[in-house]
Amino acid sequence: MCIFCKIVNNEIPSYKVYEDDDFLAILDITQTTDGHTLVFPKKHVKDILEIDDETLSKLIILTKKLSENIMTKMNATGLNLLNNTNESAGQSVHHIHFHIIPRYDENDEVTIAFNRKSDFNLQSILNKIND
Ligand code: 5GP
Ligand code: ZN
Repeated sequence: MCIFCKIVNNEIPSYKVYEDDDFLAILDITQTTDGHTLVFPKKHVKDILEIDDETLSKLIILTKKLSENIMTKMNATGLNLLNNTNESAGQSVHHIHFHIIPRYDENDEVTIAFNRKSDFNLQSILNKIND
C-alpha cells in the first residue's frame, strides 16, 4: 500500500488541512514554505494520466478552494501549484496529488527555474507534437 493510502487509512499520522469522503489534504512533511499542502483523492490513482476526468475536476476545484483559504490565513502573497508525473519529473509518491505551495517572497526557499536551452528548433518540436 502506498504512503498516501496509509495516511488515508490513518495508519500513518498526518496534519489534516481538509477531509471529506473522497479527498484529503495534509501538510507536506517538508514544508518547503509554511502551509505547503498536498491534496489528493482517497482512492489510489497513480497520476494525472490515469485519473478519471470527474475526479480530476473535483480535485482541481478543491485545490483552488484550499489555496484561497491557505493564502488568506497564512498571509501569503503568491502561490505555486505543482503536480509531478513519473520519476523524471520528480514524482516520489505514486498516488496523484497537487502541491499547494504558498509564496511569501520571491527570494524564499523555493526555486522553480525555466532555464533557456541553447539549441532547439521550435518548428521541428511543433511538427513532432502535431504529427
Ligand atoms: P512528489 O515528489 O511525489 O511530487 O511529492 C511527494 C511529497 O510527499 C513530498 O513533498 C514529500 O515531502 C511528501 N511526503 C512523503 N512522505 C510523506 C509523509 O509521510 N507525510 C507527509 N505529510 N508528506 C509526505
Ligand atoms: Zn495510494
